Amino acid sequence: MSREVLLEVTKVKKHFPIKKKMFSKQPQKWVKAVDDISFEIHKGEALGLIGESGCGKSTVARLIMGLYTPTAGSVYYKGQTLDEIGLKKFRSQVSMVFQDPYSSLDPRMSVQRIIEEPLRVHTKLSARERRNVLVPILERIGMTQEVLSKYPGEFSGGQRQRIGIARALVTNPELIICDEPVSALDVSVQSSVLNLLKEMQKSLGLSYLFISHDISVVKHICDRIAVMYLGHIVEIADKNELFKNTMHPYARALMSAVPIPDPTQNRERILLQGELPSPIDSPSGCPFRTRCPHAMPVCTERMPELQHMGNNHLVACYLYQDGGEK
Ligand code: SF4
Repeated sequence: MSREVLLEVTKVKKHFPIKKKMFSKQPQKWVKAVDDISFEIHKGEALGLIGESGCGKSTVARLIMGLYTPTAGSVYYKGQTLDEIGLKKFRSQVSMVFQDPYSSLDPRMSVQRIIEEPLRVHTKLSARERRNVLVPILERIGMTQEVLSKYPGEFSGGQRQRIGIARALVTNPELIICDEPVSALDVSVQSSVLNLLKEMQKSLGLSYLFISHDISVVKHICDRIAVMYLGHIVEIADKNELFKNTMHPYARALMSAVPIPDPTQNRERILLQGELPSPIDSPSGCPFRTRCPHAMPVCTERMPELQHMGNNHLVACYLYQDGGEK
């Protein structure tokens, strides 16, 4: 059964020019933050996007939200580009939960003002009608009306992130982009915010793009996972398939860091050598080849393309193409 595609990212690139010194004859250099990525998010699905910090995950979030214009490629929402839908209408249907609940909530605004702000921008509801929308959302996030007159400084990190989630829910969106929503929180409150997001997805039929560097977090909440390395998606599969049959050497290293709940089972931890290369002078061919224990001559020549391996599993690695070894 085919599922309705909500969001489609097609061959999207985002290259930022590096400022040249005056009168420099050096050729223009570019930061290739996102380099030719494609994926889709289906209705009701939570897609995880994981990778080390600096791999381009947050740039993907900003491209989707129309905060950056792609250098190439397009973002489609329900089959229309952002230009065709109009940014204002798009943002009433797709909202965002930010990483840092301390800087993403204006300390001078009351909680009521913060949560209802999207309603002021996107609707013509009266003050009374806006309040009627707010009350059930507060109940959903486990807060009462008393918080409406308070200010962000009166809340803990976990409570602030709940307020950020309420703000994201207030326009009744279909898709929420969650950019590292728990990474700034204490471990003790991370699971309560994750469980809240999971419960919201189930009860409201929401779709998520869930961005994180933490594979355990993504495993908890997502149905499908895309692994990103240096601006490229190198593997994408349903969560269970990915954990059972991890293929890309980079993804294998990430997975090896996830603790196994069964103490009788052992998994060898794969430690990656070296740092993530600079996206300014990224390696030729496969972007992972400078850290890959399986690199072959072909890996320096050209970028491997994502290829279908069956079971909705795609991987970009020569180990699985052209008769390479597994
Ligand atoms: Fe390693 Fe080559 Fe596969 Fe890249 S294409 S991950 S370098 S084996």
